[in-house]
Amino acid sequence: MNKLKLVFATNNKNKLKEVQAMLTNFEIVSLADINCFDDIAETATTLEGNAILKANYISEKFGLNCFADDTGLEVEGLDNKPGVYSARYAGEENNSENNMHKLLTELGDNLNRNAQFKTVIALNINKKQFIFDGICKGQILKAKQGIGGFGYDPIFKPKGYSKSFAEMDLKEKGTISHRGKAIQQLVHFLNNHF
Ligand code: IMP
Repeated sequence: MNKLKLVFATNNKNKLKEVQAMLTNFEIVSLADINCFDDIAETATTLEGNAILKANYISEKFGLNCFADDTGLEVEGLDNKPGVYSARYAGEENNSENNMHKLLTELGDNLNRNAQFKTVIALNINKKQFIFDGICKGQILKAKQGIGGFGYDPIFKPKGYSKSFAEMDLKEKGTISHRGKAIQQLVHFLNNHF
């Protein structure tokens, strides 16, 4: 049976791999796979706004079913920063090392290290839009731990675990992560309706 094709509006290979591993019943293709090399500006001030903006861009320009996500790390001790600006926290170049360094410096010795990753997904399918989200609560470590993953993974320890996201394999991270939970909602929805 042909798998339903869905564009995942990303060119981040790590994210694509994570999502493909969770959505095996569907053919998930990236922006590069549909020859879209446009720089879709994430100009909204909320995660949901950015997810909608990206999904709408693809469905309007290419007429394809698609979904887009936006993720932010919200740190309690930093008034929920960097949030929607997580990728650009230390500058426009989206450098994970610089972002983690800035976060650890700004948090300093703050005893409140509670944080959460939040992912919002906008799905555009058959001319309708659906929104899903997922949250993973945890703590910001005092120093980096582990070499796997990407972004802020080495300094984020999910609640109930003694290791960082960067010390988990994709499968383990996917079952508890913000994106994993949002994707699980997406999967549940798609399996029930398509
Ligand atoms: P995006 O919306 O998925 O591109 O995420 C924005 C930024 O949040 C990324 O550039 C990363 O710095 C960070 N980020 C998103 N997802 C994760 C994750 O699963 N682990 C660590 N950092 C992440």
